[in-house]
Amino acid sequence: MERWTDGRWVWRVAAVMMAVLTIIPSFHLSAQDYRAQAIRILGTVPLIDGHNDIPDAIRERGGLDSVNFGVSQPRLMTDVPRLRAGHVGGQFWAAYVPVTSMDSGTHPATYALEQIDLTYRLCSKNARSLAMAYTAADVERNFAAGKVSCLIGIEGGHAIENSLGALRMFYKLGTRYMTLTHWRSLDWATASTDTARRGLSPFGKQVVLEMNRLGMLVDLSHVNDQTMSDALHTSRAPVIFSHSSARALANHARNVPDSILKLVAVNRGVVMVNFNPGFVSEAVRIWGDTVTARLDRLRAAGADSTTRADSLKAWDAAAPHATLAQVADHIEHIRQVCGIDCVGLGSDFDGITEVPVGLEDVSKFPDLIAELLRRGWTEAEVKKVAGLNTLRVLRAAEGVAAEMRRSRR
Ligand SMILES: [Zn+2]
Repeated sequence: MERWTDGRWVWRVAAVMMAVLTIIPSFHLSAQDYRAQAIRILGTVPLIDGHNDIPDAIRERGGLDSVNFGVSQPRLMTDVPRLRAGHVGGQFWAAYVPVTSMDSGTHPATYALEQIDLTYRLCSKNARSLAMAYTAADVERNFAAGKVSCLIGIEGGHAIENSLGALRMFYKLGTRYMTLTHWRSLDWATASTDTARRGLSPFGKQVVLEMNRLGMLVDLSHVNDQTMSDALHTSRAPVIFSHSSARALANHARNVPDSILKLVAVNRGVVMVNFNPGFVSEAVRIWGDTVTARLDRLRAAGADSTTRADSLKAWDAAAPHATLAQVADHIEHIRQVCGIDCVGLGSDFDGITEVPVGLEDVSKFPDLIAELLRRGWTEAEVKKVAGLNTLRVLRAAEGVAAEMRRSRR
């Protein structure tokens, strides 16, 4: 009883209350507070996304004359207003080259050139918001000027048509990464969707070293595990996975297994997490396989296209969904196995047909950063995943290129 009338106790209680009040708010920030914190952070470092397929999406819709990228495009996942809303600082635009161009008589190199051309025109048409970038320093300069950097990555090594000369010219045209394969294997590199176990051929290793010498990042998304391993043992510069997630969480061949993540840690590369629901959620991946098998059975039983479409619609209604939280789980897993320096973002927006709940388009990046902050990540850590890791790798590749050129001459 007397304790409460004792003046010293009153002060002690008051001091404890003050201490508690200063600690408690950090545990009770609202979602809005984390989002505001994320946006403030993205004002200090450029968020760089490793893979966006808008050049191909625009091509499919009839080209730049048919799509005004500067205004809202609700049927796409990317446009200038949403890049701004998403506080994107730099974007690798994919010069995607379909593997079918190898059969159709179109030269894959021509296809890649056309997509690079489209990217340049896209960027110059929206010059108030976008600017080309070829180096880490360019990205930083554009960011300081309030512009989104446009970086070019070729998706599919078939684009070089087995010519190192073509590879060198693609570098001169601004290409800063090349994904070694797409869905189909080449004679020098094997795709993740191939059952063959082989990896890089001697020419494939030459391609990797020439990319190192030029300062073009080696992108291992889409290749099989043996090719990943061969490239990691060949490359003198850090490599990237421009759009791949963790296989331990979703058992898709396009994802990166833990054994490779450990090699990426040694290589100092970066794995940029893909948002494709089938790569993010194991339930979605299994569901996708089930639907394919059911459709095959319907086809075999002679069901017509209307019946198949109706069945697909009914199945879709019961389909599981991937979530933003699951994407954050992939980021945390890669961090756990490979370290905080080797995780980044590679949405695959406009190259995927489904999206995780909460990550519907490029305007949602701050929500993902906010989720990491909510999970207790520090500001310094989220800055790395947002863009600093990718910038570091880009800069490291530039350094290796300079060193290799010096030592050869
Ligand atoms: Zn891809």
